[in-house]
Amino acid sequence: MNPFTDNTAESVASIGETALIERVREWLGPCVPPSPEGMGDDCAVTEPKANLITCDSLIYGKHFDKDCLPELAGEKLLKRNVSDIAAMGGLPANAVVAMFLPATTSLAWVEGFCKGLSRAAERFSARIVGGDIAESEAPFIAATLTLTGRARKPLLRGTAKAGDVLFVSGPLGCSIDGHHLTFEPRVEQGMFLSFLPEVSSCMDLSDGLGKDLPSLCGAKLAASLNIDELPPSAETLANADGDPEAILRHILCDGEDYELAFTVSAEAADSFEESWNDRFGAPPFRIGTIVARDGDGPQLLDAATGKALEYKGYEHLRQA
Ligand SMILES: [Mg+2]
Repeated sequence: MNPFTDNTAESVASIGETALIERVREWLGPCVPPSPEGMGDDCAVTEPKANLITCDSLIYGKHFDKDCLPELAGEKLLKRNVSDIAAMGGLPANAVVAMFLPATTSLAWVEGFCKGLSRAAERFSARIVGGDIAESEAPFIAATLTLTGRARKPLLRGTAKAGDVLFVSGPLGCSIDGHHLTFEPRVEQGMFLSFLPEVSSCMDLSDGLGKDLPSLCGAKLAASLNIDELPPSAETLANADGDPEAILRHILCDGEDYELAFTVSAEAADSFEESWNDRFGAPPFRIGTIVARDGDGPQLLDAATGKALEYKGYEHLRQA
């Protein structure tokens, strides 16, 4: 949906900030608790148990466009944050949302966006307890959401050991052809992992395996990948048309898969696979092993040849 309108009577400018905030509260519906736990005071009063906090944004022209339903954009903003909480083995708790809207933004677009946000918040048991609306210059629409969460035993990056087995929770690549809007944050999987002592590290894949795995490994380790075991998404298979090089590139370089990548101690890897299978009805994808890094050598290796895999994921702000 085109978020802008030439008809002032249908735009956010027709009602102004104060009335818009009231509408937003209405559209967000039951995920907004009453004051003082929700909107209405200078701050929201929250329970003291949250031990996770994360923040992610959605920008028009970058993460969604005019062909995207505003409901899906709203859902995506919440789900991106939920995915980060899931990666730490947590459950979502409270969110604040800041919106940057030009005066020509249509009310119908903001309504759809809020309803999508609300739908996702209800599904993942997050409460929207406050936020901010600021005026921006067209065509800059953006929203930033900050989400807290609770994890009994947070999973971290950089805590794997050489010899650990590397897994991913689902197929990868070509999210731009569909699942960047419809993905499911792996909350149950993250919780499941966080209670198992054999799980040594975890993260969610937002920028592609090629960029994300080095940060899962930390500076002293590298990931040795079994290329044949890397799981392509249906979109990747359709796009690559049987070209193995294209499949590999999509799997390693495409962002926004929002699957989990995690490591498990080698002794426990087989029994872990069974218990994951019992819990989720399908095995996880075992894609390689964690090895010691050779000095400041490559952090992504082909297990079959021992050679570096020269693929990088998506890095923001990098032009060359
Ligand atoms: Mg993340």
